[in-house]
Amino acid sequence: MMGGGCYAGFMDIRIGLGRDLHRLVTGRRLVLGGLEIPFDKGEAGHSDGDALTHAIIDALLGAAGLGDIGELFPSDDERWKDADSIALLKIADGKVREARWRIINIDCVVSCERPRLLPYREALRARLAEALGIECGRVFVKAKTGEGLGDIGVGAAVEAVAVCLLERAQS
Ligand code: MG
Repeated sequence: MMGGGCYAGFMDIRIGLGRDLHRLVTGRRLVLGGLEIPFDKGEAGHSDGDALTHAIIDALLGAAGLGDIGELFPSDDERWKDADSIALLKIADGKVREARWRIINIDCVVSCERPRLLPYREALRARLAEALGIECGRVFVKAKTGEGLGDIGVGAAVEAVAVCLLERAQS
């Protein structure tokens, strides 16, 4: 087998995992998956603090072996201050496509005590799928609480975990 190549007879597929955590503070917007969700707190962060989109970026980059969000968009770089994370996702997705990878699917879990995110699921899926130029059916988002435990449980943080499966694009 050539380095980084495909085992004969097997699809060339790669899995990636991303995880992000942001503090929830007053005076910030709550942005998840590019959607602004009405709430009395939002994510602290250098960019818009979109934990879900950040987790997806890391899952994509990790699957393609292209580094991670901190390398691509350093938090000490003024260009990314208050950045729209969907724009960052599109940049990362462009690098993944350039490296000839195509998304099979993305699955995510967002954990926060409040607000309830389930009513936003379909809008989140549609927003992310549109940003990535893939069908809605290839993106899924689940919502969990912290069961009252830890930083998530007391409403001090929002966490997102994402996995992404890529396949080698044929052309
Ligand atoms: Mg982040």
